[in-house]
Amino acid sequence: MVRFDKVSKRYGPLTVLDSLELDIARNEKVAIIGPSGSGKTTVLRMLMTLEAIDDGVIWVEGEPLTHMERNGKLIPADRAHIRKIRAKIGMVFQSFNLFPHMTAMANCIEAPITVLGMNRKEAEERAAGLLEMVGLSQKKEHYPAQLSGGQQQRVAIARALAMRPKIMLFDEVTSALDPELVGEVLQVIRRLGSEHDLTMLMVTHQMGFAKEFADRVCFFYQGKICEQGPPKAFFGNPQNERTKQFLHAVL
Ligand code: ADP
Repeated sequence: MVRFDKVSKRYGPLTVLDSLELDIARNEKVAIIGPSGSGKTTVLRMLMTLEAIDDGVIWVEGEPLTHMERNGKLIPADRAHIRKIRAKIGMVFQSFNLFPHMTAMANCIEAPITVLGMNRKEAEERAAGLLEMVGLSQKKEHYPAQLSGGQQQRVAIARALAMRPKIMLFDEVTSALDPELVGEVLQVIRRLGSEHDLTMLMVTHQMGFAKEFADRVCFFYQGKICEQGPPKAFFGNPQNERTKQFLHAVL
């Protein structure tokens, strides 16, 4: 579903990702963990085309995202191509990023109407279903400022799903929440994973959740995947010294 093929990213002299190779299968749930500054967020932002890449190619469902094929060659993608491929991907951010002047419902119908060209009635019906799924059918007409952090984050998840993505990216989505609100957001993500055909990539500090939810855990260190594997093996029997040190510090 997603392939990073020798993808590198630099900021000036700093190499943030160094020839990254990562293949993600359809419907696979991948947890990305690692120390601060190891490049985790950059991976998601590049897949969302919020950051350009310096080398390599990112593929989505067998099509290049960052490039277009022309006469058997890959050339840099134009905007229309990027827009077409990126439509398969939804992202939820640490800081919710809801439109503050719009109700929960309005947040969820804005892009389906303006980008997908859905009619208002259909968009509202779908959004109502999604808001119900995240447990917020009573809060449809509330503005973000009238909602708790956990509720705002659940609206953000419904809003991303309203665009019918095949791939969902979660970037530390519980980090800005008070501890008692973390569970309700993770519960929604858990349900999504089990009830929908979605490929999911999640940068997280919630090791317990990664252990229980992910099919695979990838440990990033200095812009490379240092170790990866199914959670049981990864957490139960880590092989790499860096992984061991990190797990020792956070568990
Ligand atoms: P992580 O998510 O693992 O904490 P990031 O992917 O956010 O790491 O960042 C990786 C490295 O890239 C960090 O050293 C960070 O300071 C640097 N970085 C991220 N964004 C920028 C930017 N826009 N300009 C310069 N450096 C950046």
